[in-house]
Amino acid sequence: MARIVQKYGGTSVGDVERIKRVAARVAATRAEGNEVVVVVSARSGVTNELIARAKSINAQPNDRELDMLLAIGEQETIALTAMALHAIGVPAISYTGQQAGIVTESMHTRARIVSIAPVNIEEELRKGSVVIVAGFQGITAGGQITTLGRGGSDLTAIALAAAVKADVCQIYTDVDGVYTADPRVVPDARKIHEISYDEMLELASLGSKVMQTRSVEFAKKFGVVFEVRSSFNDKPGTIVKEEVASMEDVVVRGVAVDKNQVKVVVSQLPDKPGSAARVFKALGSAGVIVDMIIQNVGRNGVANLTFTVPRDDAHRSEKAVADVLAELGGGKVQTFDGIAKLSVVGVGMRTHSGVAATLFTTLAEVGANIELISTSEINISVAIELDKADAAARAVHAAFKLGA
Ligand code: ADP
Ligand code: ASP
Ligand code: MG
Repeated sequence: MARIVQKYGGTSVGDVERIKRVAARVAATRAEGNEVVVVVSARSGVTNELIARAKSINAQPNDRELDMLLAIGEQETIALTAMALHAIGVPAISYTGQQAGIVTESMHTRARIVSIAPVNIEEELRKGSVVIVAGFQGITAGGQITTLGRGGSDLTAIALAAAVKADVCQIYTDVDGVYTADPRVVPDARKIHEISYDEMLELASLGSKVMQTRSVEFAKKFGVVFEVRSSFNDKPGTIVKEEVASMEDVVVRGVAVDKNQVKVVVSQLPDKPGSAARVFKALGSAGVIVDMIIQNVGRNGVANLTFTVPRDDAHRSEKAVADVLAELGGGKVQTFDGIAKLSVVGVGMRTHSGVAATLFTTLAEVGANIELISTSEINISVAIELDKADAAARAVHAAFKLGA
């Protein structure tokens, strides 16, 4: 007997028929003698619809109220999944994040998990029930409903797998696993059979939305091995685990594209020690995660500072920077859409050279102008024009011979 956590994403529970199919898979897993904890997302599109509805009433909805609203998406699917299991004779109970004992910090819309006390879950598993937990949500110590950031059901699943000491953690989605690039953009992308936490983390944080970044961080920290696989077939998926030596043989593991960033340009920034520090301190206090940064050489006492931030933080960033500029007595801030960040990732980059040369040459060949560059030990990223991004991803994928 094994203890298994299975997470089903939005497309996998997208309608009543699909929820019934999920129930059948869960029932089959239990029939093999396993204990099963299921985490479900909201039906695909529901979270986006709820956000759009909130914004149609108030362009800057209050974060606490937004969490109150967003939590209902997952609450619908847990109840329907439990009912689908009951309909085929399987004992099952649904739990909200609170009922599952998931306690978070109070930062609404992006709360971190502080602790999980799976008392109710353990009790129901002992009785032989399937436990279905709402992904993406938790509760603060003070009783406020929070959500864990977009894609947060992945985090619920991985954190629960650690908390209940699951033997297996499976992330069921609408693709067969993690590919060398988004298979919807790069048709000849290949499925990766095994990938290290670090590579998965980079791919996720650089825009491959197949796994939420924070969920991979959590898995790495607590050593949760998980598999990403399809809920539409029985093919083996991708195992995400600690790095093994042979993984370094591959220089570039995958290509990621992030279309959810905007470029913020601060021009005429008074060029004196501490100006940049104040800008980034203000952004930090506003909870904005700044990504790529360049500052040009100052001239006539002023400098230009350019950086990228997630699109959702554009408004927050502009306001934070404008406040600092007012204090500094100069400078202008503008936000530009229309950029994409393209990245190549691989632990093999630690020991191989020439990756930047191949990347930049390929981008030149497709006429993509590089606006910003950033690197880490295992990735190189560039910001390019949005409308060149998909063609560039295909060309870069081919240049590193990642295709099938
Ligand atoms: P779920 O609703 O199951 O959480 P998501 O939509 O969040 O699913 O993530 C799955 C999607 O991630 C796929 O449909 C695919 O288009 C996209 N994706 C982006 N990059 C990759 C990649 N490298 N490998 C696999 N899928 C990817
Ligand atoms: N429903 C949430 C979202 O769309 C969480 C998830 O699907 O993982 O972001
Ligand atoms: Mg997802």
